[in-house]
Amino acid sequence: MRGRLIAAVVAATLVSSGLAAPAAASPGWFACQPLPANDGWAAAGAGTTGGSAADDEHVVVVRDRAELIAAVAGDVPKIVLVSGHIDMNGGLTCADYADPGYDLGAFLAAYDPAVWGRATKPTGPLEDARVRSARRQGEQIRVNVGSNTTIAGLRGARIDGGNLLLTNVSNVIVRGIEFTDAADCFPAWDPTDGEAGNWNSLYDLVTLSGATNVWIDHNSFSDGDNPDSAQPLYFGRPYQVHDGASDIIRGSDLVTVSYNDYHHHDKTMLIGSTDTPGVDVGKLRVTLHHNRFADVLQRAPRVRFGQVDVYNNLFVVTDENYSYSIGVGVESAVYAQNNFFVLGGDVAAADVIRYWKGTRITAIGSLVSAGGRLPRPVDLVAAYNAAYDPDLSPDAGWTPTLRRRLDPAVAVPLVVLTSAGARHLQR
Ligand code: CA
Ligand code: CA
Repeated sequence: MRGRLIAAVVAATLVSSGLAAPAAASPGWFACQPLPANDGWAAAGAGTTGGSAADDEHVVVVRDRAELIAAVAGDVPKIVLVSGHIDMNGGLTCADYADPGYDLGAFLAAYDPAVWGRATKPTGPLEDARVRSARRQGEQIRVNVGSNTTIAGLRGARIDGGNLLLTNVSNVIVRGIEFTDAADCFPAWDPTDGEAGNWNSLYDLVTLSGATNVWIDHNSFSDGDNPDSAQPLYFGRPYQVHDGASDIIRGSDLVTVSYNDYHHHDKTMLIGSTDTPGVDVGKLRVTLHHNRFADVLQRAPRVRFGQVDVYNNLFVVTDENYSYSIGVGVESAVYAQNNFFVLGGDVAAADVIRYWKGTRITAIGSLVSAGGRLPRPVDLVAAYNAAYDPDLSPDAGWTPTLRRRLDPAVAVPLVVLTSAGARHLQR
């Protein structure tokens, strides 16, 4: 019934907008589906149904920024179908957001480490003006999603330049949408971040903050036509205008991330944003399965505190700026099984795992194809331990049970390449 209703709504909309004939098939058929039973951590607790209980008035098609923001607000059950490309900047440029007191040239002059030093973060009128500028952009591009919501993409649906925020909400499904390039016009300079300082940006494509029971499925995430390689160096460091692809932070819990295509992006998925024990303890339980991580540089994922199940994912590494894939952070318990790694150039299997103050990770059934050679089984923890210290325990201390299927690693490239990403759901 619900499927027919959505098909009818969508068909009527497409016809009225001249996009389709009345006999069009049933686009958006998948928008009414709840998360299947047992499909990862989001199936625990109350389960994840999104907006599948929506009444007829709360099944809507949105085509622009204002319609999207209005449709996803509030906690009433609702199904929001995204049609076409939505530009969250709405045609505004960085110059439009800039505060009268902000000027990049003046900012660079004032906070050059040769002038400002490296001991403290920038303060003063130019930094204040940067913060005001960033606030204006944030008000434009952020989309606050309420509880009991399904957001689903119709064929070709794309959200450019936006940050979907799931803050202190529950029961949300995001499916079949291409997310690109949430570029921050006003990166912050932090000379105390790392040995050489870093430019950091504010906007993830999707942020889960204190969010519970969320299913992120069959989406695509990338920097779009604005790659990091196109950005300049300032103070000898990359001017990083992007933050996470889909970060899961601040006590978020019971999340399934399946069949997504993450590609051409740097900081992919932070699970837990602070080493300080607090709301994250006992939370941040996330399942990642059948995702593609292709030419993402780090955090696929980087985990603190959570029990995170990472199985049947395809990792493709060809970018020379690759850092690592799975980050083992404070109190993390990653259980990685039957993942397939394609490592180009001189990337070693030992570099797939990175120590971030964690102590343990299960990584079994991994297949690694390195330098174009045939895939072979690799004990990733043993490889890491042989190359680096401190050694990690090969036992995450728990065993996942919330899985619907576990493919052999050798099948992962074919399964993922023929099913992950927005286009495989939208068609
Ligand atoms: Ca972030
Ligand atoms: Ca060692």
